[in-house]
Amino acid sequence: MAKFIFVTGGVTSSLGKGIIAASLAKLLQSRGLKVTIQKFDPYINVDPGTLNPYEHGECFVTDDGAETDLDLGHYERFLNIPTSQANNVTTGRIYQTVINKEREGAYLGKTVQVVPHITDEIKRRMMLLGNSGEYDIIITELGGTVGDIESLPFVEAVRQIQWELPDEDCIVVHLTLIPYLKAAKELKTKPTQHSVRLLSQEGVQPNVIVCRTERALSKELRKKIALFCNVKTEAVIEAMDANSIYEVPLKMLQEGLDVIVLKKLQINGYAAPELNKWNHFLQMLVAPKHKINIGLIGKYVELQDAYKSILEAFVHAGSINQCKVNIVNIHSEHLTTKNVHEKLKELDGLLVAPGFGSRGVEGKIEAVKYARENKLPFFGICLGMQMAVIEFARNVLGWTNAHSTEMDANTSHPVIALMEEQKKIKNKGGTMRLGAYPCEIQNESLAFKIYQSSEISERHRHRWEFNNNYIKDYTNAGLIPSGKNTAKELVEIVELKDHPFFIGVQFHPELKSTVENPHPIFVAFVKASHDFAQKNEAAKNKLAENQSL
Ligand code: GLN
Repeated sequence: MAKFIFVTGGVTSSLGKGIIAASLAKLLQSRGLKVTIQKFDPYINVDPGTLNPYEHGECFVTDDGAETDLDLGHYERFLNIPTSQANNVTTGRIYQTVINKEREGAYLGKTVQVVPHITDEIKRRMMLLGNSGEYDIIITELGGTVGDIESLPFVEAVRQIQWELPDEDCIVVHLTLIPYLKAAKELKTKPTQHSVRLLSQEGVQPNVIVCRTERALSKELRKKIALFCNVKTEAVIEAMDANSIYEVPLKMLQEGLDVIVLKKLQINGYAAPELNKWNHFLQMLVAPKHKINIGLIGKYVELQDAYKSILEAFVHAGSINQCKVNIVNIHSEHLTTKNVHEKLKELDGLLVAPGFGSRGVEGKIEAVKYARENKLPFFGICLGMQMAVIEFARNVLGWTNAHSTEMDANTSHPVIALMEEQKKIKNKGGTMRLGAYPCEIQNESLAFKIYQSSEISERHRHRWEFNNNYIKDYTNAGLIPSGKNTAKELVEIVELKDHPFFIGVQFHPELKSTVENPHPIFVAFVKASHDFAQKNEAAKNKLAENQSL
């Protein structure tokens, strides 16, 4: 049976519980333990699939087709192992299970209550991955902040698990904030004391306190926190702000978070941390030799979390190319035929982002046109690929009204159409084409050059697809369907023949990029953009030389 670590958060939200949990997991993994992380979210949506990105950031998708919290993306990027449906549970899913059981009559006439029925179901789900025999340690991150009304049943479940298991099989790590008061020139521990007291009132005594802080914690301060939070001084861990989330595991290593956790769990004989690949990645990341500008064309660009996995995939691909990728956020709603040149002229590459609905699509189409005509490296993801297909229809094939039926149900040329299996579906939650599907890649294509393989698997989240009725027109005119799901006859990749780098993919490659395995399309796209930048630079220098002669 696995051992359990629960990670709770106090004082305020957005302290980076997910990153602390992922960093701890990374360190334990680097010492040879098998670790996974799961997240329990206290909201009532059954999953975040129906949430607007403005509400909750990006929706992450697992291989088995679960729509999950974006923290699962961090877990995968850090640990380099896939997560699944079981790794993300919400209040909504818990209640749904309990209510379904009640309707089946499974409670035999009993009154169904938060305690014990809801808490029992939370406990069952919390232990599930631990019972699989696959892992030594399960880290469970509790969403929300201690003291929230909605997180009470989760904290109660943790209290019961802590009571049921031997002390060395279950510990609680509490993440808090130590604010610095400028006027008093002092770090303040009171909010942390209060948050630990609140947690204790709910019956849970944390074993380790991780303190987010802008300034180093002195010995005295650590002692004070330890005394009033009822932990040993060595269990007070400083988590100073870092330049990159990928530095956090190393900071936690310096602070000894993994060692104190291993001590409390009574795990002995663990190996020294093996972080060679991680360190190499970081060395390359902090000392780039080149810099490129990539335009990210989307409609949620104000909110960084909306494109989290894409941004992180660029960090991975940038490091391996020794290239700083500067992301230029461009709101697709503000792009027009008139200003497109002005807005995109400094770019070395262009990514058109995934999305839903008609807001901002005309701007995306303008951007694709610019990239196609100016031979600017182009990468379209999901809706971004669909926009490339529409742009080509309108401006190369001459079908000026071509569109996706998502935006125009009556278009004369529905080049992007609803998938057959989607036509009968009414419910919005969990009904898209979701999760990993195989894709066959055409020999001698750009996609083949990138993947170096003709069989790949990528994750999906969409309802519309390339309309196969037009496949011949496209192929003859030079936009090639170079990747296909042969079982379902779906076009998964399109690419332009006469262009240095123009690729659109129906799936979400960003979801599979990790520190140790940067995604090949992102790696190739960064390289192509760097080549474009160098060529431009050379051309500019030549011009300047000629002018000075
Ligand atoms: N709205 C499009 C579809 O459902 C694209 C989805 C996406 O970009 N994830 O097909």
